[in-house]
Amino acid sequence: MKNLKNALLLKQLYLLKQLGYSYTSVSTFQEDEPDLTLPNSLEKLKKQALECHLCDLSKSRTKVVFGEGNTEADIMFVGEAPGATEDSSGKPFIGRSGELLTKMIENVLLIPRSEVYLSNIVKCRPRDNAEPTATEAHTCHPYLVKQIALIKPKIVVALGATAYHYLSGDDSAISKVRGSLYKQQGYTLVPTYHPSYLLRNPSAKKEVFEDLKMIRGLM
Ligand code: SF4
Repeated sequence: MKNLKNALLLKQLYLLKQLGYSYTSVSTFQEDEPDLTLPNSLEKLKKQALECHLCDLSKSRTKVVFGEGNTEADIMFVGEAPGATEDSSGKPFIGRSGELLTKMIENVLLIPRSEVYLSNIVKCRPRDNAEPTATEAHTCHPYLVKQIALIKPKIVVALGATAYHYLSGDDSAISKVRGSLYKQQGYTLVPTYHPSYLLRNPSAKKEVFEDLKMIRGLM
């Protein structure tokens, strides 16, 4: 909640800057506590995210990539951040790595992609496909936490080290933790490699295949 409070404060400062202010007193923000409650419907949460300017990524994005899929999915996949194709379309996982993820879901989990929910740690594309900074990831985190709370998946698959780190708070290398099960509040977290890593390292596909087979067993 502290992150969201800081993020909302930052948003107010951006608004004032746009209005031409170069100085303001901190006390301006101490009188009225902003409403820190995120909407309790996915639709309203998405609407809020689509208009979000809480972090620097809003300055360079084309579209906010909130997430898509079955809003009552048992399995949710969380990646790091939208790429160029996602940024221009507003849809998650539609580039080459998205195609690979779709094949993995449909050929190994044996369910259509539309049956799962897909999202990312940050909803806006970092410039040059850089890893999101800790500030950006923490600022965006309340949206992801709320998405998970509303969708209530039984399994959340963290795709890659960044997704695993921000979902678990653990800094361990993805190669050490992949394929393990981590009990979180209300769901099981399963880390595995990100499909973009598999495009660069096709030999790791067999490990992801094993991880997905395990997930199929859990289903
Ligand atoms: S990345 Fe998240 S917090 Fe930052 S502007 Fe986009 S939606 Fe808002």
